[in-house]
Amino acid sequence: MGEQTGEANRISMLYRKRGCMLKKCEKCQLHQHATQMVNGRGGNHAKVMLIGEAPGYEEDLQGTAFVGKAGQLLNHVLDKLGVGPDDVFITNCLRCRPPENKLPSPKVVLEMFSCCEPYLQKEIHKVKPKVIVLMGSIPLYVIGHKVHVTQHEGTVLPVTYMNIPLVASYHPAFVLRQPSKEVCLARALYTAFDMVGIHPIPKPSDTFFDYDKEDVI
Ligand code: SF4
Repeated sequence: MGEQTGEANRISMLYRKRGCMLKKCEKCQLHQHATQMVNGRGGNHAKVMLIGEAPGYEEDLQGTAFVGKAGQLLNHVLDKLGVGPDDVFITNCLRCRPPENKLPSPKVVLEMFSCCEPYLQKEIHKVKPKVIVLMGSIPLYVIGHKVHVTQHEGTVLPVTYMNIPLVASYHPAFVLRQPSKEVCLARALYTAFDMVGIHPIPKPSDTFFDYDKEDVI
């Protein structure tokens, strides 16, 4: 009861702050613990779309994708690559935050994605990206039909989604835990931008991302 009142207060506070209704959907069980649906952010005509897994705590509160620590790391890598904010659109395959950021089994996630997929497809129809980067195991599984990120990261997958080529990469949240993988994320992004004729300079090397991570963590 106390938890429900807290939840109601939080939503009411956000409602007053925004002056508009929070976007909600109840098509799958993830809505039960989420404050609101979280849509993507970025250039409306970006040639590259990045798709992650699901919103986290900050995204759930703010209603925007990748605004927490993983998003800050991603911004930092994009910045290092010299990619402008309008060159990329960043979103997730699921729109609601899972409880404690933990997703259920892949089979259940696949069912959730079948409910949520129309929202992603709407964004793809609007943005019309030329390449999609699947960041992490969940988008790789539900969209790319592959299981092991380690095997596929940095590569162009042999399948497409809505006729759009797919590149696999690590998720920025994983890179936060494994900083040595940051160059892999950068290389995967480099591959995607290179495919659409955006040529980031310099090409990421093992030493390219040798900066102080205190900036973003
Ligand atoms: S995850 Fe997607 S389908 Fe499920 S409730 Fe949220 S918006 Fe709806």
